[in-house]
Amino acid sequence: MSQLIRIAVSGGGLAGVSLLQALLKSSHLDIHIFESAAAFKESGMAIGIARNALAALELIGPSATECLKRAGAVPMKGVRFMLAQGESQGSLIDEVDGEQLLAGVPEERMHAAKKKKLDETKRNDDGSLILHFTDGTTHECDILIGADGIHSTDDPAASPRNTGTWLVMTLQPFSIEDAREYSWIRDGSFILHNLLSDGQLVQFVIASYDKEAESTDRWNRSVNAEEIKSLYKDWPPHLSKAVDELLCDQPEHQGMYLWEHPPAHTYVSGPICVMGDAAHATTPWQGSGGGMSIEDSLVLSTLLGCAKTPSEAVTALKVYDQVRRPRTHRIVESSHGTGMIMRGRGKDIGLDLGKLREKLLPRRDFIVDYDNEKHLKKAVEIMKGELKG
Ligand SMILES: Cc1cc2nc3c(=O)[nH]c(=O)nc-3n(C[C@H](O)[C@H](O)[C@H](O)COP(=O)(O)OP(=O)(O)OC[C@H]3O[C@@H](n4cnc5c(N)ncnc54)[C@H](O)[C@@H]3O)c2cc1C
Repeated sequence: MSQLIRIAVSGGGLAGVSLLQALLKSSHLDIHIFESAAAFKESGMAIGIARNALAALELIGPSATECLKRAGAVPMKGVRFMLAQGESQGSLIDEVDGEQLLAGVPEERMHAAKKKKLDETKRNDDGSLILHFTDGTTHECDILIGADGIHSTDDPAASPRNTGTWLVMTLQPFSIEDAREYSWIRDGSFILHNLLSDGQLVQFVIASYDKEAESTDRWNRSVNAEEIKSLYKDWPPHLSKAVDELLCDQPEHQGMYLWEHPPAHTYVSGPICVMGDAAHATTPWQGSGGGMSIEDSLVLSTLLGCAKTPSEAVTALKVYDQVRRPRTHRIVESSHGTGMIMRGRGKDIGLDLGKLREKLLPRRDFIVDYDNEKHLKKAVEIMKGELKG
């Protein structure tokens, strides 16, 4: 017979919320989620959900396509994924009409405005944990899952690092007839554009690299119009013009540095583990951070669902670590290399169009052509083997 296992999830982003939804299927798991923000909401940034993540969502439960559609997802021409938009069109996380990822979650399990204090989790003699929150309250559980994003420092994984690459994103009305997503690569800099909101808005992203910022603790950067002009002055005229019109009409833009986790030696420490960006934040060049979070949720929830006692739940975390780390490390590393190529700095590739075509296009195959079911089955087998002993 299964005993009640108390699970606390810290962080209500895509990782925490998809995990919560997946864990609710197991009635012997007593789950509570704690989010530091005042409400469970997505940040509003557009992210693409690739087919590996769609497959994982479907295995978790709610029909992914329906869920994404209601979240304002739009099919995109020329790329192999859907785009889930944020606040402007509804969201994956927010319960807009009862069909999103938080649909059906009992309110008493969701705790907003609860910031878990970092490095203050106490272990009792019986192995259970006491979490402390900044409002002075506490919560007792058997398992703690840190889904608190890249800024989490309360984790057994390595600390993330600034890659030195920055990007500026803008979303505005602009006339581009071709709805496909385009990426333009030049020596050291990059442009991406695609259409959102039924073609009403163009998302425009520029990126470049700042050696001095690499490995520093800087998250943001002001990029002024003069710098943008000088970076893009030798680009084809229609692109320089678009950059000029969309980005140089104001003196400064706020850019973000791209951070990533170097390979961690573990995602687990006893009854505590990390997932999503808290474990393996990646640069966005292959649009896979959110997808990895959803895959994590599928594996972690299935393994925890197999556990009958808190001690077996600790084994579930160990197996989660074993099966997820190789894939997530590979994706983070692949994304880093893709970023080099996208800035025209790929080793032995540079700006050679033939080589770009040959090397760049297949880089995403291992990410999207992923057999979630097969890997899940393997994880469950490993867990059964561990439990037999
Ligand atoms: C420019 C850019 C483009 C991207 N594009 C894509 C894409 O196309 N496709 C894709 O799959 N991924 C993409 N990503 C990555 C994706 O956005 C992230 O991987 C994903 O959102 C991570 O989800 P998460 O839940 O792990 O972390 P987060 O979304 O950061 O959520 C963490 C949550 O924890 C909360 N929290 C933090 N500290 C505490 C605490 N102490 N106590 C309680 N709560 C806490 C936070 O408030 C937050 O709600 C992109 C990222 C960037 C930067």
